[in-house]
Amino acid sequence: MRTLIRNGRVALDGYLQSTDLLVEGGRIAELGTLDEVAADRVIDAAGCYVLPGFIDFHTHVDDQIGSYYLADTYESATRVALENGITTLCTFVTQGPDQSLLQALEIARAKAQGRSHCDVLWHLTPTTFTPEDIARLRALIPGGYRTLKLYTTYKAAGIFASYDRIEELFSALGDSGIRFLIHCEDDGIIEAVDTTGLDLSKPAAIGLLRPEAAEVLAIRRVTELAITHCTPLHVVHVSTVEGANHLMANRACGDLSFETCPQYLFLDASWLARADGHRWLCTPPLRGNRAPFLDLIRQGAADVLATDHCPFCTRDKDGWSGQDFRTVPNGLPGLGSLPHLAWQLWADNPDRAALGLATHLAENPARRAGLGERKGALRPGMDADLVVLDPNGPERPLHSTHADSPETFGDFTSTLALRHVLLQGEPRVRDGRLTEAQTPTGRLLQAAPTTLISA
Ligand SMILES: [Zn+2]
Repeated sequence: MRTLIRNGRVALDGYLQSTDLLVEGGRIAELGTLDEVAADRVIDAAGCYVLPGFIDFHTHVDDQIGSYYLADTYESATRVALENGITTLCTFVTQGPDQSLLQALEIARAKAQGRSHCDVLWHLTPTTFTPEDIARLRALIPGGYRTLKLYTTYKAAGIFASYDRIEELFSALGDSGIRFLIHCEDDGIIEAVDTTGLDLSKPAAIGLLRPEAAEVLAIRRVTELAITHCTPLHVVHVSTVEGANHLMANRACGDLSFETCPQYLFLDASWLARADGHRWLCTPPLRGNRAPFLDLIRQGAADVLATDHCPFCTRDKDGWSGQDFRTVPNGLPGLGSLPHLAWQLWADNPDRAALGLATHLAENPARRAGLGERKGALRPGMDADLVVLDPNGPERPLHSTHADSPETFGDFTSTLALRHVLLQGEPRVRDGRLTEAQTPTGRLLQAAPTTLISA
């Protein structure tokens, strides 16, 4: 099957070009003026941008977090993803108590197999660290698992890693080709907060329990360790100007990157002060003054824009007594809104916005996930995951999830229309909807091995 996409403005290596694009055998075959090429199917992309399929680098689906089960299954999450141009979903698998990491991974793969509308890649969260565990982590790398997630907080949940532990792992695995993804909030600062006198019926007080200083200190500490041990580091959901600036200032010293999420750009602590403010509880919390952070990200400071999609069921999010907001599960859905809000960062300049999506939602996350040889760019030989995007569609409200979870961005609308989404060269979405009731065709991915692995 040969599919020709004509008349679009195609995002290439940092620029846009009006050109045709031929897809064959699930891969991009050719770019250029292809008037004479015979194709089985022709897609007219006039007035549209043709972009690499988007990647959400940070999502939580079909998993238990604390005592609550998330609202999205692999089926529902990958459906809202694909409908919005996200062709690869990166999500987490966490080693549970009395379980090996590999067992947890097998369970997650079984849940996703045959039910995923887009491709899925897992980041791994180990929670035990004996020498045998570390040897097993090394053994997972040739199998295509290249990213490990660690947390500098959450002792009660059993996923906390101390700076000493992180240094030990950087030292043991820093040369292995693994990239460490770290949730940075310093637990010492959080535990030292004096809660007497705090009104815990007010969700806005979360900013006092998890202050900006906690994020900034943890970023400083892990950055220093990563540089010392030459370890690739990606800091997840950065929410502060100071944290972002510190990472940018140290970029030249090591393989450092970071992401931020739409909630830290488009929402602020005033949402927590609403009557239903508990619905916007997440960690790190929504911050007070978002304008300077938004300016920094609009300048391109963050390598990756991702959601930290973490949809709790409405009954669980709303089920607290109103006495102590610490009992509300922390997390927000965002998946289906990601491309729309990323676009709005640069909506005053559509070409800039299109290139911004190609960079921050495709090329950069593909590289950080170890998928850069297959995904994230429109070059001959790459997977034909691509999006035909019309910036001038009808205005519609955002839908972060199809699951029963409170909408994070209900006050926002978008005119971006996903005219076509191709997965592995096959048209799967037309005007924002799956083309038919179809068997999910997403693949369970493993990242490419790197030359470092033999070391
Ligand atoms: Zn997360």
